[in-house]
Amino acid sequence: MGMVEADIEKLMETKWGRTYANFTCPVCNQLSEELVKVFMPTRYETPSKPQEIALSCSECGKEFNGQLTVIEGHPKMKLADHPSVDLSFTPLVLDDYYSEEYEMFLRNFDWRSSTLASFIGATGELKDLLRDNPENGGASIFNKMIFSQMFSVFEAFLADTLVHLIFDRQKNIEVFLNKHDKLQKQKVSLCDLLENQSQPVLDYIKSHIFKEIREETLFHNLPKVERLYAILGYKVFNDDRLKDSLMKASDLRHHCVHRNGHDMHGNVVDAYTYEYLMTTIEAMRVVALFIEHEILRAKREN
Ligand SMILES: [Zn+2]
Repeated sequence: MGMVEADIEKLMETKWGRTYANFTCPVCNQLSEELVKVFMPTRYETPSKPQEIALSCSECGKEFNGQLTVIEGHPKMKLADHPSVDLSFTPLVLDDYYSEEYEMFLRNFDWRSSTLASFIGATGELKDLLRDNPENGGASIFNKMIFSQMFSVFEAFLADTLVHLIFDRQKNIEVFLNKHDKLQKQKVSLCDLLENQSQPVLDYIKSHIFKEIREETLFHNLPKVERLYAILGYKVFNDDRLKDSLMKASDLRHHCVHRNGHDMHGNVVDAYTYEYLMTTIEAMRVVALFIEHEILRAKREN
């Protein structure tokens, strides 16, 4: 089974969270306190879709079913067979950015695209490394190495996906050539033609596009990435806040890669904390899932 658009939407909008449900058990009349794991909307203030939850009594073990909804960050729930029972919940705690269940779920998915599968796998490995070394500070060499590798993985995903999109159909090659500011103006020399005379013209053109994308384009330049995807009619970001946070991350990448974690005045940048890196990996994943979502949608509509 491959991932469908609806699954991706759900992944983009949710994160695992946990809360304790407190209620007087209608069977044993004891006070029950039971851990509940829920999907939590992270990007919107709107209530979550109702989630079917099975809740057992912590005292007698009896299981109850009900629908749980998260409204403005607070869980609300009624038991299906005992609607008069009042449930209260402790404040929802979002799982730290490493939930093993969530990681296994993502990594075991049968992704349609091997590019996305490899991106999810690589970001998962980076999260493993961070989780195993949570004590490193925001200026540590370990975290800076992870951070720059995060960008390598993200850039590879953006480049590979764009290459696939361009070569997916001849019409895309035409559109891309006509609208790419540099390729559009590219001239071919007679010597070049002579040298490549045995090659079909289309292959020759493709090799130039390929070289431009693979060797000449910097995919951490996010406004540029947006422009390139836009040529083929695709958006890269579904959310301005997400875009702003990744633009900022791209600046931090610059401090990290070119100045060993110092800003242009030579001050130490200590922003590469565990929490920040985990959040940024999630932001990159949301972008990747959104692009995949858009590609699936376009395929369905064509
Ligand atoms: Zn009970």
